[in-house]
Amino acid sequence: MSPQILIDHILPLVRKPGRYIGGELHAVIRNWDEAEVRFALVFPDLYEIGMSHQGLQILYHILNSRKEFLAERSYCPDMDMEGELRRHDIPLFTLESRRALSSFDVIGITLPYELCYTNILTVLDMAGISFRAEQRSRSFPLIIGGGSCGLNPEPVAEFFDAIVLGDGEEVIIEIAELVMTAKKSGISRQEILHRLADIEGVYIPSFFVPHYAGSELIDIQPLKPGYHAVQRRVIPNLPGPDTLGKPLVPIVKPIHDRLGLEIARGCTRGCRFCQAGMIYRPVRERPVDEIMTIAEQGVKSSGFDEMALLSLSSGDFSCLPELMVRLMDRFAGQYVSISMPSMRVGTLTGEIMDQIKRVRKTGFTVAPEAGTDRLREVINKGITEEDLLETCRSAFAMGWNLIKFYFMIGLPTETLEDVEAIVALARRARQTAGTNAGKAQINVSVGTFVPKPHTPFQWEQQLSLAESRERINLLKKLLPRRGFKLKWQDPCQSVLEGVFSRGDRKLSHVVETAWNNGVRLDGWSEHYRLENWQQAAQECGIDLDAYLQARDPGKILPWDHLGSGVKKEFLVQEYHKALAREYTPDCRTNGCQMCGLCDFKVIRPVVNTRSETPLSVPQAGTLTKKDNGPEQRKRYSYRVHYTRFGDVRFFSHLEVLQLIFRAVTRAGVPVLYSQGFNPSPRISFSPALPVGVESEAEYFDMDIASIIDDTESVIEKLDRQLPEGMKVFALEAAPESEAATQVISYRVHLNKQLTAGQQEKINQFPEQESFVIERIRKKKKKALDIRPLVKHLQASGNDVHLELFSISGRAGVSPKEILHHIVGLDEENVLLARVKKTGVADFS
Ligand code: SF4
Repeated sequence: MSPQILIDHILPLVRKPGRYIGGELHAVIRNWDEAEVRFALVFPDLYEIGMSHQGLQILYHILNSRKEFLAERSYCPDMDMEGELRRHDIPLFTLESRRALSSFDVIGITLPYELCYTNILTVLDMAGISFRAEQRSRSFPLIIGGGSCGLNPEPVAEFFDAIVLGDGEEVIIEIAELVMTAKKSGISRQEILHRLADIEGVYIPSFFVPHYAGSELIDIQPLKPGYHAVQRRVIPNLPGPDTLGKPLVPIVKPIHDRLGLEIARGCTRGCRFCQAGMIYRPVRERPVDEIMTIAEQGVKSSGFDEMALLSLSSGDFSCLPELMVRLMDRFAGQYVSISMPSMRVGTLTGEIMDQIKRVRKTGFTVAPEAGTDRLREVINKGITEEDLLETCRSAFAMGWNLIKFYFMIGLPTETLEDVEAIVALARRARQTAGTNAGKAQINVSVGTFVPKPHTPFQWEQQLSLAESRERINLLKKLLPRRGFKLKWQDPCQSVLEGVFSRGDRKLSHVVETAWNNGVRLDGWSEHYRLENWQQAAQECGIDLDAYLQARDPGKILPWDHLGSGVKKEFLVQEYHKALAREYTPDCRTNGCQMCGLCDFKVIRPVVNTRSETPLSVPQAGTLTKKDNGPEQRKRYSYRVHYTRFGDVRFFSHLEVLQLIFRAVTRAGVPVLYSQGFNPSPRISFSPALPVGVESEAEYFDMDIASIIDDTESVIEKLDRQLPEGMKVFALEAAPESEAATQVISYRVHLNKQLTAGQQEKINQFPEQESFVIERIRKKKKKALDIRPLVKHLQASGNDVHLELFSISGRAGVSPKEILHHIVGLDEENVLLARVKKTGVADFS
């Protein structure tokens, strides 16, 4: 692909063009010709979701750590980008080398959730690759899947040559080595599949054939002798720090914009609805020293100001108090905060909360899952209402005003009383704020329970769409407005998730039909329409509702040939214990519960030993005086001038702002922080530059704690941390104040020569006394006279020179508005114009 077509003709026309540029810090650019096996790792959803996914990053760094292998990344394009790429006949490409996916040996596609299934077809189609594995010849890359949907990938199984079940860290290297050997020996695609099947944890869908009697699945016939079932791959210990110390640092803001530290994998609490709790067993905790090493390397090399302690239940981490104290003692002075996305009621002790709030009070979410103790006993949640209220009482007492609750509706045995109890529980939780109850807010999120494969509830019925709506409406009616907010997952999306999560291979026709009918990006509510799926199912003669019904425990399930390691008998036993409200304790602390996963030779729970040394826990409060001391010290303000050319023009103002914060941190410039609950670096920026505009005249002002003696050295350090296209060219004392009016100059190069009519409009403009345009701001039309805002406008050929006034506190006009309203260019040509800011001068 010509990079110039992408840069000049496509990116200016699409939303969030930065998604397609790459250039993230620590992205690995390898020599294409030196690698023997090349992987394209694809996340089948938009960039901002994919960049938050830890698993793909781990595999990316593991592969790139071996010189024989190369890995690059690609994400599903948004619909506008898909349209533009098709219009220009450009295949989907990787971010690093911008090569077409079809030029790689292996395309590895993550299967993170069911609502991304049509995106897989978008990726394959835009790579020019046939959808079904059986249609692909030797010349196509191998299409290999993996991820949490891998334990029942049947609805999309026929699109893959192979699917990895379980932990991918070791398998990925075994696959790469096999492909390397296969390339050298030139063996057939079929032989490659046979050899892949010999790797533990690799599922070859074409080696199994489902048989039906009418619409009922009656058998899954294995075709390869000795290959009757595939077991999940489990690594005994988490991967070491070597591949984790240089996290990718995105510029376009991902949904989780922070350093992810995987502190443990697997959870053995045994919640009976939770698929992750079954399919990621056993618990494998990372040693505290190793977490400290990864945090040290990660923060230093990224500039992130937040660390997330990742695990299925971070509060259960054996040495959490010790870890929190050590992390905070080390990083609070650098204003790095800690968040824990998945805390469990009862594990959030005052000690832990004290640590969390030392820098910033990150969000506080707890998941009671159900409204009554009875239903929590059914699901083996192992927490009581009193535990929950105690946690809320502590959080409010420590200064949190907002607590988020997560509940499910439709859990097995749920009654309307259980649903109503959600509201009663939320009310009681708010009352625990005591005299501060007026300020306290409880946000209640509700999702419909989806029975998942490999769980004790895999045979259960899912609520119908109508039932889900009825229960959500009941909550809407009962939950008071003041002090509470209700959010709910779209029950239409839960229907599709339910269909696919327990789906079979027949559904691949529905996925293909829906995609052919234009269905895309189902995880995004603005794109998702259940009717489109119902239509596709009808065209295929398939009843979607049948997939939501209860399953007969005596009959075959579509995933019965795929093993999570947890025995089916254990799931049945847990199901009966659920109905009897019997508790199954956590094997981490209460001995083996015989789920069948561990062999206790290689695979067993890996649990840290708690430190016996008493910890010195700082008193409650945010940063200590010492931590936040810089505010009390002298302040020196400097202005840093920089340019912004090339690809970086496609990043938004907010994205550049974050990029500069992190670059300054990594450069070690002692920038001061604001005080209060949410300290942020004292850096302010020149007026926002529109996306797509280059600049020779950007600046930011920073307050620092000491005088800079060697400006050249600081410029050099900052430069080293900025991406290509951004260059610092001067550093000086910041002015005491700005002029109220400034003149900003622009040079515009148009896509096409101006017509005589357009030239005439430009020539006449200076003669006019006013030129009123209409704008829409916050959904309201507003008139603005732009004539007084234009100091100079001149054009010839393809070039336009502009000088615009920027007046403090008043609305300004952008170069693109000038091109549209005065010159009369249409929207596409306005977007394709190359605009460069060339200077800023005070006006007096
Ligand atoms: S086999 Fe025993 S120790 Fe291992 S995960 Fe299952 S219950 Fe826990």
